[in-house]
Amino acid sequence: MAERAIAVDLGGTNLRVALVGRDGTIPSRQSVPTPGGGPDAVIERMVALIGEIAAGAGERALPVGVAIPGPLDPATGVVAYTPNLPGWRRFPLGETLRSHLGRPARLVNDGNSAAVGEARFGAAKGCRDLVYLALGTGVGGGIITGGRLIEGSTGLAGEVGHVTVALDGGRCTCGAVGCLETFAAGWAIKRDAGLVAATAEGRRLRELAGDGPVTPALVAVAALEGDPAATRLLARAGRALGAAMGVFVNLFNPTLIVVGGGIAGLGEPLLGPAAAAVADHCFPLARAAVRIERSALGDDTALLGAAALALDA
Ligand SMILES: [Zn+2]
Repeated sequence: MAERAIAVDLGGTNLRVALVGRDGTIPSRQSVPTPGGGPDAVIERMVALIGEIAAGAGERALPVGVAIPGPLDPATGVVAYTPNLPGWRRFPLGETLRSHLGRPARLVNDGNSAAVGEARFGAAKGCRDLVYLALGTGVGGGIITGGRLIEGSTGLAGEVGHVTVALDGGRCTCGAVGCLETFAAGWAIKRDAGLVAATAEGRRLRELAGDGPVTPALVAVAALEGDPAATRLLARAGRALGAAMGVFVNLFNPTLIVVGGGIAGLGEPLLGPAAAAVADHCFPLARAAVRIERSALGDDTALLGAAALALDA
């Protein structure tokens, strides 16, 4: 049984490859800007980095796990599409990697991978019933129930950012209406902040932004100062987040909901209203059984999950 795996985290910005021990230690790692120009250039670089890390480890045939920024079918290895990377629609990544590496790689959606990373090594270490929410530019995540990652029949399960929280809500990046993402994603908070900043109430946001855009981080600064418009804006996003959490609590009865990603860093002005709202959207007994915590793994969550899944395979 392998004691180490090579993990790949393919992001829209960076391509990261690391040697990861079964205990979650990372003895070596490399990070490069994700090559532009589509899958071929990315895979060429990925395979070269995997080779370098393997050579450094002195083991050629280590298991490989790859976290992908989009939905994919783990059974067929076909990536459905990647919202932030061009050219990956219906791309047979599993087959392509197998021909380059001479062995199969474990492919996983990065939100699902991050959920596994949290359950094995992070805030949810040892937890068997967990919902992980990655609040970034979009909203991703994953669900582990009874110790098992839920991937669904074609790999599309665990899309926690796309539960409906408003019947008459705005159109989401996924094409649906009223998704959690349309309230709590970085893009949604930034859009709402821009709208507020254009009104009389948005004076403090305009001051903080100067000539630049009103970023979610600036909204949090204003909210922590007590600015009413910024406080209201993040409380609304937080209530949407709490409503979605209530759905997960009723469906999966988890012991832990872990919140990670840059937007989780906005802290109390967002997460306070979220935690307070959960009880309005689920059974009281199920609410009493669940804790809400921040991720403790930073940027390595998906990388560690990909390694754990490769070691399990
Ligand atoms: Zn959506």
